[in-house]
Amino acid sequence: DVRVRFAPSPTGYLHIGGLRTALYNYLFAKNNNGKFILRIEDTDRTRFVEGAIENLVNSLKWAGIEVDEGVTLDENGKIKQVGEYGPYIQSERLDIYRKYVDELIEKGYAYYCFCTKERLDKVREEQKIKGLVPKYDGFCRNISIEEAKKRIADGEEYVVRLKLPQNVDIKFHDIVRGDIVINTNDLDDQVLLKSDGFPTYHLAVVVDDHLMNITHIVRGEEWLPSAPKHVFLYQAFGWEAPEYVHLPTVLNKDRKKLSKRQGDVSVEDFRASGYLPEGLVNYLALVGWSPEGNEEILSMDELINEFSFERVSKTGGIFDKDKLDWVNSHYIRSSSPERIADLAIPYLKEANYITDEDINKRYDWIKAMVITVQESLSTTKEIVDKVDIFFKDKVELESDEVLEVLKGEQVPTLFEAIREELGEVEELDEELCGGLMKKIQKKTGIKGKNLYMPVRAALTGNLHGPELVNILYVLGKQNILKRIEYVEN
Ligand code: GLU
Repeated sequence: DVRVRFAPSPTGYLHIGGLRTALYNYLFAKNNNGKFILRIEDTDRTRFVEGAIENLVNSLKWAGIEVDEGVTLDENGKIKQVGEYGPYIQSERLDIYRKYVDELIEKGYAYYCFCTKERLDKVREEQKIKGLVPKYDGFCRNISIEEAKKRIADGEEYVVRLKLPQNVDIKFHDIVRGDIVINTNDLDDQVLLKSDGFPTYHLAVVVDDHLMNITHIVRGEEWLPSAPKHVFLYQAFGWEAPEYVHLPTVLNKDRKKLSKRQGDVSVEDFRASGYLPEGLVNYLALVGWSPEGNEEILSMDELINEFSFERVSKTGGIFDKDKLDWVNSHYIRSSSPERIADLAIPYLKEANYITDEDINKRYDWIKAMVITVQESLSTTKEIVDKVDIFFKDKVELESDEVLEVLKGEQVPTLFEAIREELGEVEELDEELCGGLMKKIQKKTGIKGKNLYMPVRAALTGNLHGPELVNILYVLGKQNILKRIEYVEN
């Protein structure tokens, strides 16, 4: 049975590259009726951030990625672990790692190292001067276990390092990259256990993936150079290694890693910028993978059905914000106006276009406003710019054509009729708006284009746009009167 894991470090937020890794793991798991496991890799205590685990779980949840096993949150938002292979938080598994480190030392695959930071720095400096790639020089490799234990008993600080054999080829297969061979001479005697008693990522990841029965390791290609060390550890323990899949990095248009300086990189940022989870997930799936057909709008279920590693590209996927916007606009258009209204309300409030009272008493009016612009939104946040026309005092005319329309012969009659009609009501509701233009037509005999265009032009400054009925309703009586008066002068 397929069992995959997403194993982030709790560094504060979920990078969209991380979301894509989680997504590919999830799609592959679901495509194979397998399990998606969330494990937290928090062995680097210097990088720990309060609330980061909750943030990770919430970001995944928002994106529609359900955790089958591992770390999740309970109804009160408290961290909870589910599954029989726990704990799934590495800092709670220190005893387990200790045991396996001892086993490696006993078998001769690891050794105690007492080198001070000063010594290591000096060695590295000397290697750099000689033009060598810095790596541990093996100074403590031949200290016997007995002697090491004595030194430890005497209180000396130590780490445990991997004891790689010299000049041995380590081979493994990556489903996306193919066969990979690396010689141990190009690898370092990696630290496995740090002086604070915590394992390094390299030890913990191997022990956990094995004990948690992980079948496929799907992760970013930045981990490819570490894979041979892991493969060596599997061999040292006498375990079978899982399958490997290293994913191309998500890059920006300059083919560099997406960084915080260039704007949105965290899932939370994208959410706050008005992207829908379906839009972000659908788009991200396409960064580094493509479906067989031409269809690029794919729901989570469709992605699950179509996903395979065979169609994951070897080279970096370019993150194209315009395309993300295009995909997202599709999901906005096909959402209910209620959903978009609810998502848009915070932005409208922040822009001071609506108040709490509007939300409580005039929800229909807000909804009508959303409907008028929904088709044209790439993000829900964009609504602020799009509804701007309803809140401006003066209407700017789009083009000379608009001006021409407003100079039409029948326009004065038309506007006069509207003024009269509006004078008879206190305020416009949806029903009145629906009948208003018909009444004017009957009253004046003006029809079709000559009826609708000047009204649209006066109210929006444009000849195209949302349904006129909606515009009338959203603007309301006073604004309509003001705008007509404005263009008349
Ligand atoms: N903890 C690693 C990270 O933060 C996980 C790497 C892996 O999946 O092996 O990306």
